[in-house]
Amino acid sequence: MKVGVLALQGAVAEHIRSIEQAGATGVSVKRVEQLDELDGLIIPGGESTTIGKLMRKYDFIDAVRSFSEQGKPIFGTCAGLIVLAKRIEGQDGAHLELMDMTVARNAFGRQRESFETDLPVQGIDEPIRAVFIRAPLITQVGPEVDVLSTFNGEIVTARQGHLLAASYHPELTDDVRLHEYFLGMIKESAVVER
Ligand code: GLN
Repeated sequence: MKVGVLALQGAVAEHIRSIEQAGATGVSVKRVEQLDELDGLIIPGGESTTIGKLMRKYDFIDAVRSFSEQGKPIFGTCAGLIVLAKRIEGQDGAHLELMDMTVARNAFGRQRESFETDLPVQGIDEPIRAVFIRAPLITQVGPEVDVLSTFNGEIVTARQGHLLAASYHPELTDDVRLHEYFLGMIKESAVVER
């Protein structure tokens, strides 16, 4: 199984390490042609405005949308979650506009710019270790979106079919169970779609 990590900006190497630790092959993706060989794609944390700009510049917006139309799973973490969202608070238009949710950027305020916590996630037995860094929150979801976890009552993990989004950085710890969960989604999609 080959999983790409969009390597335009952000925490790429850490995701590749987590994918490999979870038992698949990790590929650093810099050109749209590479998408053809992938079973799944991760959009990493970093700075969503920058990632969005570079995606436009290198033709990734349409290419990733058609990757998604083929039913291939996509996992966005932190800035990557923002890139997946249909709506961004206080902003006209968004980036990929694939997941039916509204997100608020940098939603934890200055006091809590970054912190770690043990987070229960639906579908994973024990809480996972989650690192939040200037993290976004999901403030509203459409009917097709399942909420997989909340923190202080706010949505921080969500899934819409083959799309997965997390406000935090699962790749910055040795706990790779969310990556394993994503590999499980890829296996499911392979059974259903191909
Ligand atoms: N604050 C960043 C943004 O709004 C996301 C932070 C992150 O990915 N760690 O794009």
